[in-house]
Amino acid sequence: MNPLLQPFDTAPFSKIKNEHFKPAFLQAMEDARAEIDAITENKEEPSFENTIVALEFSGQQLDRISSVFFNLNSAETNEEIQKIAQEVSPLLSEFSNDITLNEGLFKRIKYVFDAREDLDLSLEESTLLEKKYKSFSRNGANLPEDKKKRLREIDSELSKLKLTFGENVLAETNKYEMHLTNEEDVAGLPEGEKEAAAQLAKAKEKEGWLITLDYPSYIPFMKYAKNRELRKELSLAFGSKGFHNDELDNQENVLKIAKLRHERAQLLGYETHAHFVLEERMAETPEKVQGFLNELLLKAKPAAEREFQELSQFAKELDGLDQLQKWDASYYSEKLKQKLFNLDDEILKPYFKLENVINGVFKVAEKLFDLKFKEVNNVDKYHEEVLTYEVYDQKDNFISLFYADFHPRKGKRGGAWMTSYKSQYKKDGKNIRPHISNVCNFTRSTSSKPSLLTFNEVTTLFHEFGHGLHGMLANTTYPSLSGTSVYWDFVELPSQVMENWCYEKEALELFAHHYETGELIPMELVQKIKESATFQEGMQTLRQLSFGLLDMAWHAQDPTAIEDVKAFETLAFTGTQLYPETPETCMSTAFSHIFQGGYSSGYYSYKWAEVLDADAFAYFKENGIFNKTIASKFKDNVLSMGGTENPMELYKRFRGQEPKVEALLERAGLLELRK
Ligand SMILES: [Zn+2]
Repeated sequence: MNPLLQPFDTAPFSKIKNEHFKPAFLQAMEDARAEIDAITENKEEPSFENTIVALEFSGQQLDRISSVFFNLNSAETNEEIQKIAQEVSPLLSEFSNDITLNEGLFKRIKYVFDAREDLDLSLEESTLLEKKYKSFSRNGANLPEDKKKRLREIDSELSKLKLTFGENVLAETNKYEMHLTNEEDVAGLPEGEKEAAAQLAKAKEKEGWLITLDYPSYIPFMKYAKNRELRKELSLAFGSKGFHNDELDNQENVLKIAKLRHERAQLLGYETHAHFVLEERMAETPEKVQGFLNELLLKAKPAAEREFQELSQFAKELDGLDQLQKWDASYYSEKLKQKLFNLDDEILKPYFKLENVINGVFKVAEKLFDLKFKEVNNVDKYHEEVLTYEVYDQKDNFISLFYADFHPRKGKRGGAWMTSYKSQYKKDGKNIRPHISNVCNFTRSTSSKPSLLTFNEVTTLFHEFGHGLHGMLANTTYPSLSGTSVYWDFVELPSQVMENWCYEKEALELFAHHYETGELIPMELVQKIKESATFQEGMQTLRQLSFGLLDMAWHAQDPTAIEDVKAFETLAFTGTQLYPETPETCMSTAFSHIFQGGYSSGYYSYKWAEVLDADAFAYFKENGIFNKTIASKFKDNVLSMGGTENPMELYKRFRGQEPKVEALLERAGLLELRK
């Protein structure tokens, strides 16, 4: 008896053994294929019900098994699970490719799609139909055979190039090390960082200290190391990954990726790769993204220039520097920040005992959305540390199951995330409620101290909980449109907006009490947190915008004629650079976000999401941060609606207007600086 192949409501963790996964996957895939075949072979005329809805609800068991398995692989993995993941991942991509390439299935979908005007579909139904149709057409289902063939070639070529790009960046990162044997060369580094560098050296049986290009080694060195020449060396090494004209060089790969993406987009009838990508984003068009980035640039640049002047002046006074260089940025910024704020995590932590913060975020959810969280002990879980809650609304209707897993363990990957074990959907007159999980890596308690969070961890908890609310409050018919299944540049709104409550007195009063004395966090501390959060916001904004503009330069125009990566990049950076140009470095050759990961034509979404969350929170602030009417509008038009409609429409219904950049500029302190 394989517990994964029996019907289950909550995931049956205690009954699952590793050897259950693979047979369960194989069986569920076979069942799902049979469901697809039944749709394709149906003799009746294709209809929304017998094709689109049937496809939507096919493979549900496979989805549940996948979510249990891959969630475990992130939160509580071991070598055996990792091995199974290696084995089943290619089978799963083959399975989904087989669906996308299934011509009989596409024929039926297209039949329904072409008749959509006469079908009298609801908004959600039309969205589902369009989404299903697009998942085929965007993969070439409408193309003639020869072009289909070319598309497959491009896809396979692109996936190889992206892999090579990433491998080169990794190899460059691993290849470099700075070996220091003179104590003066590590002057400035805090004791802990020095120790870490000494350990790195020891592990390689070397004397002294080793500094590498890995973030945990690179970042502290750039921030604290006094020796300017060494900072320069490290900074140039970091900035020139994939740019040495050797076997790990990525210039050719960059050009090939950009050109193949363009060719692919054109094959499918789009002007550029960015047009193709943005069709399924809230921003919709490259023109809109570029307009957005340029508007922010115009408004942030004066502040950035002022901050740069201020930092230059500070470095001059402190060390007589004539010209601030890239390798000075982090070092002097840290010094200036210390001088201005002197804000230490250790001062804040006693006010943020984990249990208090959890209760705090629950109270915020109760005040806003009338949710009640009841801890329960009868739900099967994958580790004893996991907490489980049942969530109810005001009328005691069951809303969701909520798992919370807060501490690092061997077998859990780093970072923090929200995920689900079961999507919300409606079927046969029943509203099936979701099972949502938050996973974090917060310091655990010790025998003498409870778990105390840094302020950054507090905002992380609120952030992931915001994603969690998006899942918990979902109220749609179709699972693939439910909860966080929204356009990429919309998904961070519910999470980021929640972070805003962490800075508000009215919210902090609910939970930020000293764990020993019960004293409320002093408001001058809160004020300091707010001010330090916007420290050098102009320069930071300019940096983000430069990446977004570079991304759009590569993807929103015909790249056929580009030959020189560095020259092209320098041109794209015009207007966003404060520091002197360094000919030795190149950003594009290590810009993994856009050339390896999924952020091509999407880097702007970081800023886009900030604009949304600032604009949404401003609406709360104007009317009171716990205003029930505004909260209901947010729940009814955003949190519960998933991807059932275009996000801009949803947002406008909540806010009464399109988002504006002003709220972000004000929150970031960029408005006053513009005088
Ligand atoms: Zn997020």
